Amino acid sequence: MADVPSEAPEHCPGTQSENAGKASACAGCPNQSLCSSGAARQPDPGIALVKERLSLVQNKLLILSGKGGVGKSTVASLLSRCLAANNPDRNVGVLDIDICGPSQPRVLGVLGEQVHQSGSGWSPVYIEDNLSLMSIGFLLSSPSDAVIWRGPKKNGMIRQFLSEVDWGNLDYLILDTPPGTSDEHLSATSYLKGAGITGAIIITTPPQVALLDVRKEIDFCRKVNVPILGVIENMSIFVCPKCKNTAEIFPASTGGARAMSNELNVEFLGSIPLDPLLARCCDEGKNFLTEIPNSPTVSTLNGICKRIVQKCEEEKENCPNNSQ
Ligand code: SF4
Repeated sequence: MADVPSEAPEHCPGTQSENAGKASACAGCPNQSLCSSGAARQPDPGIALVKERLSLVQNKLLILSGKGGVGKSTVASLLSRCLAANNPDRNVGVLDIDICGPSQPRVLGVLGEQVHQSGSGWSPVYIEDNLSLMSIGFLLSSPSDAVIWRGPKKNGMIRQFLSEVDWGNLDYLILDTPPGTSDEHLSATSYLKGAGITGAIIITTPPQVALLDVRKEIDFCRKVNVPILGVIENMSIFVCPKCKNTAEIFPASTGGARAMSNELNVEFLGSIPLDPLLARCCDEGKNFLTEIPNSPTVSTLNGICKRIVQKCEEEKENCPNNSQ
């Protein structure tokens, strides 16, 4: 199932890397002679399997955040709901690859649902007619079960998620990833090499401490050749639902995400205001867009979604394989 044997040490450099079999972590690994011979560097058959499986998926989007606690999963769920709600003919799938902290089943209101397996693969769980979800959360016996897996096992799970879920025709597949740049990100970007990633959307909050980690995320995308669709600033301001006055929750000492995006030449997609009712909706698995439709957060999200759709079209037009 995994490209790296399960006996590989935790700090395995990856069987496809130049250092395979030669890194200090390889000392004593049972696969060392195989890896150092270069035999393991052959193209991973999983890449072709993923390409085949996702051939009916038009856009694959990675949701990234440098830091935990910036509301990445909440924003991923809102964007998915928004993309699906704004066009009933549009099919949206969410793949929760936050293996150690899967939160999409809860925020999308399908906690405790079961995934079913058929001859054509795993069937995702449907939230709406045109919105489906696959998450490791569905495979755990209890939401409080801890997933304590090393890199190779996570790698195998992500390969299975990407190659064995029967999504059908999808316009957008949204991948909710864990914070930072870890095993999950490397596995997803490696397996999606053949299928192609439309782009990454980076979520942050305004303080400098979060923005510093976003810079690393942008650097990661550039190193692995993933286009960056833009940066979204979450919890930027609080808009009082009664008087409509605004207050800064996390003051941006250095100009916030907009200034950083300008400096790093990536698009700033917008600032999502904090709405105290949003956290409650997520905890209860309710659809914030229909529960509080007049919230300034909803109008901002609609604008961001519209721009993401445009950006995906632009990426397609710029794709060198577009003429095929
Ligand atoms: S020998 Fe191969 S499998 Fe073992 S740690 Fe090194 S690269 Fe990983």
